[in-house]
Amino acid sequence: MSSPGFATALRCRECHRESAMEPIYVCDFCFGPLEVAYDYEALRKVVTRESIERGPASIWRYADLLPCDREYAVDIQAGFTPLIKADRLGKELGLNHLYLKNDCANPTWSFKDRVVTVAATKAREFGFTTLACASTGNLANSVSAHAARAGMDVVPYALTDADGRVAGLNRVGLRRAGFPRDHVADIRNAFRILFSVGSPLENRMEQLAGAVQSPPGQRLLQFVKATSKRGLAGRSRRGTG
Ligand SMILES: [Zn+2]
Repeated sequence: MSSPGFATALRCRECHRESAMEPIYVCDFCFGPLEVAYDYEALRKVVTRESIERGPASIWRYADLLPCDREYAVDIQAGFTPLIKADRLGKELGLNHLYLKNDCANPTWSFKDRVVTVAATKAREFGFTTLACASTGNLANSVSAHAARAGMDVVPYALTDADGRVAGLNRVGLRRAGFPRDHVADIRNAFRILFSVGSPLENRMEQLAGAVQSPPGQRLLQFVKATSKRGLAGRSRRGTG
C-alpha cells in the first residue's frame, strides 16, 4: 500500500491545530512549526517488523511511515547505513551494546540524504520543478544530487556529476539528437562563457547574450535568464571539459 493514506494532516506543535497536507511550513494561526500527523490506528494494521524487513535495503522500506507517495520517489538509495558496534566507547559509558549509525555511508555522505529524499519526493508529488535550499554544504550536496536524479533544473545540454554539478557538455547526446556542428560549437562556446571562473554571473550573462547565435544557444540563454535568480547548478570540480 502506498503511504499518503497514512499521513493525514500537518499539525502545529504549539497550538495543535491541523492544516491540510500542502506546501506550507508554519501554522496559519500562531506561526508554530508543523509536523506530519499520521493515522496510527490504520498504520498498526499494515506495518509490521516483517513488512519493513521485506522492503528494499534503503529508506524506502519505511515508505508507509513517510508522508509522501512512493510513486513519485526521488530515489538515490539513501538510508540502510551500517550499524557499527562500539565496544570500547560502550565500556567507557557503561553500555554493553552500543552501536554507532554510520550515516556517512549515505550517497552524498551525510544524513541529509534522508530528509531530502522525502522533501524531493514530496516536491515532485506537489508538481514543483525546482529544488533550492540554504546550506553550509551537506544539504546543498544532497539537494543537488536529488535534483539531478529527478531531472530538475540543470542547465540544458549539460552532463552532471554525482553531486549534481555541471561536469561538461553532453556531446554524445547532442550528436545522437542530430544537432548540426555549428550549433554544437555555439553551445560549447556558451558553456565556456557561462562556466568561466572569476567574473560575476551578470557579466557572464551579458557576454552570453552577445555571443549566442544558434536556436539552442538562445534556448540556453533564456534558461539561464529564467533560472539565475534561483541559482544555477555550479561547475564540477573536475571541470567542464
Ligand atoms: Zn499553531
